[in-house]
Amino acid sequence: MTPRRNSDSNIPEPTQNGMGNDDLRQYEIDGWRVGYAVQIQGIGFVPVGNARRVGDDEDGNLSPFVSDEDSDDCGYAGYQSIPSGPDNEEETLNGEIDETGEQEQEANGEIEENETKPDGAVVQTDEKPAELHKKDIELNDEKVSIIRQAMGGLNLPPPPGKMSKLNSSGLKRPSNDFVDIEMARREHWESNTGSEIGRLVVNPPEKGKASQVSFISKPSTQNQPSSSGSSSSASASKSIPEEHTFIIHDLANQTMAVLVEDKTVLKEDYNIATGNLAVEGKIVKRAECRPLANQNYMKMKVDQMLRNTKPKQQVIKLDRAENKFKPKSVHEEDLARLKQKKEGAKTVRADRDVLMNALFKAFEKHQYYRLQDLQMLTNQPANYVKEILQMIAVYNSAPPHKSMWELKPEYRNYTLTRIRSMVKHAVEKKTALGRLGKITQWGVKQLEHATPSCMMYTRAGHIPHLTWDVAEKWLDLKQTPIYQFPIQSIFESREIIKKYNKGLPSFCGMPKDASVHLCVLDPLIENNSGYNETTCIAFWLGDGAGKRTINAQNYRNLVNISGCDSFDTLVDYDIPRDSTQKKFSKAMDRKQCFTMQMFEQDAEVKGSALISLGGGPNAYFRRRCAVDNGLKERCEGFSLELHDYFYGNEIDKVELKKILEETFAPLPPSKIRFAPGPFDPSMVFFLVQQGIDLFDSTFAIKMAEEAKAFKLVDDYPHSDAFDLVDFHEAKYTDKMTPLFDGCPCYACQNYTRAYLHHLTNTKEMLGMILLTIHNLTEYQKMFELIRQKISNEPEL
Ligand SMILES: [Zn+2]
Repeated sequence: MTPRRNSDSNIPEPTQNGMGNDDLRQYEIDGWRVGYAVQIQGIGFVPVGNARRVGDDEDGNLSPFVSDEDSDDCGYAGYQSIPSGPDNEEETLNGEIDETGEQEQEANGEIEENETKPDGAVVQTDEKPAELHKKDIELNDEKVSIIRQAMGGLNLPPPPGKMSKLNSSGLKRPSNDFVDIEMARREHWESNTGSEIGRLVVNPPEKGKASQVSFISKPSTQNQPSSSGSSSSASASKSIPEEHTFIIHDLANQTMAVLVEDKTVLKEDYNIATGNLAVEGKIVKRAECRPLANQNYMKMKVDQMLRNTKPKQQVIKLDRAENKFKPKSVHEEDLARLKQKKEGAKTVRADRDVLMNALFKAFEKHQYYRLQDLQMLTNQPANYVKEILQMIAVYNSAPPHKSMWELKPEYRNYTLTRIRSMVKHAVEKKTALGRLGKITQWGVKQLEHATPSCMMYTRAGHIPHLTWDVAEKWLDLKQTPIYQFPIQSIFESREIIKKYNKGLPSFCGMPKDASVHLCVLDPLIENNSGYNETTCIAFWLGDGAGKRTINAQNYRNLVNISGCDSFDTLVDYDIPRDSTQKKFSKAMDRKQCFTMQMFEQDAEVKGSALISLGGGPNAYFRRRCAVDNGLKERCEGFSLELHDYFYGNEIDKVELKKILEETFAPLPPSKIRFAPGPFDPSMVFFLVQQGIDLFDSTFAIKMAEEAKAFKLVDDYPHSDAFDLVDFHEAKYTDKMTPLFDGCPCYACQNYTRAYLHHLTNTKEMLGMILLTIHNLTEYQKMFELIRQKISNEPEL
């Protein structure tokens, strides 16, 4: 009794029992309920030699067997012997059946009849059903005992070949609802090899009834845990009913065959898959194995039904309402604020830029705000918020947005979240002696700064020799300063500044809200010739600290981490007077490259750019440089590279005039023109006349560091001469007069030349401090005088 299923059968699917695919579980509970196909063929008595072997059908198609006529069968007798006859051979359906009957024997030992029934095997044919009925075999005791014997000795090795598919799936039920009892029992059978696992009881058919076949498993075997380790079968064994009846059906609309591995050329026990299937026989009856409907089984079924009807989710009635709160995300800022509140800290004023950015961000979302809301939003003091608001927003005093703030029209279209960094400079008056102008914004900071004027040179974030305290107390700055910050002093610390993340001015402790201009070259440090490369320029750190190089990308990064309001762009300063045209040209190309790289598309550059304009002493290349670089969109002003004309050099003013003319000719006149470097009062006035607006204070520092104090002549700038006191000279040793009569500065008010001479010659720090204070005061006074002079000039 080895029903087999063609693994890729074309057997029509019987209706599903609706239990879904939870095959295993279902099977554990209910495995025996479902029908299975059984091959009866083998248990008959047909001479082996006459048994037919159906020719291999390569794709396992069983189409040759049409079983329509099976439906005519009635009164099926459980085990029949079908005599084979010559007619059967003639009736082969498509002639593919070959006659090598012996081979059937070898084909598969599982076809039990082969060895046990020498009289022959049954080959059910479709023809002559009537004859079959006539030839029903009476099952007498002898035959039954033979069957029993055969069944008892059943040993079912895993089927080789294609059948192993079924085998490997263990107890998994085939997709078909017919469950192979043999498969189900295999484990038991295998683990009980050689011993009895149960008994098949075949009752001869009674009148008008089909024969009764039932299977009673042996309790001892059933309860044995499965040796194959299948947990499902172990748990199933408890509930598996012991007794089953077979309900025999006709195969009405199906064709099923028994397939075996074709091992024609092999020995039978070779467990080798040949891949060939032989049709061993045909299934003519289907027997459904069902457990007896006894109490145990019914109880099991009831349990199962109850289990299945239990809903997976249940509605539970609650006695009282539950308090569930809407989840709310806690943002970092809120946490920080809470913490701050807890610690009792006062609201700390944020950086002006930070607050401004926050306000701009807020206005991106809504057009109108009440001050109170903005104050809450930014978590800043109301006064402070209002102060900033007054700069960037307008207050509506009339409906429909009464009492609300709205961005000033010029800021409304900014997609940037921060106020646009720019240098706002207006030329107010243009005369033959130069031009008067006013800076109203530097970077993101508003200020009032009249030009011509100078930036305040710093070194490492300080006015050299002055602490910020001293500077604040003793240095009288008439205008809001713009600090010039050469990168040399912080170049080695750029990683730290990046980590610090609040920008260079803050890192150096510069005054809050100071306007800071970053520049590449320190006018007071001399750079040697011949070190600039194609992609980077060389600069010296000063004080013997050596040379460094920087390319556009690194400089951009530095600018971005510096947090400065503005910056100079890179320029190839190294074009000696005697350079060839080629060298000039190369330097120009390089400069253009720097500018391009600096403002590469998508590259963010924070701050306003003052485009450095070079070209050495050559007027043509000066103009070319201006044209190539000065018209950039990002250009907020110009920084002129004039180191050839710094204080101390021999200066050809005609040449300088020419190159400045050429430089400015193609450029928009309104933009600010900055000429960093130490220029003495005479040069400054000359440069102002050429149209320079902004200088730096390096001359004053340079003088102080050389132990010199300078004083403008009384009619400056009418006469551009100046007095110079060099404290290295011995003649000042006993001069008990003030440094300079009439100078309001702290040094001149409090100290004599003799004392200053003493300080500088003993290299006391105070000497430098006092000289710096005086020189800076005088230098600023110089610009005041120049502005005065220009304002009295007729406009051009
Ligand atoms: Zn003074």
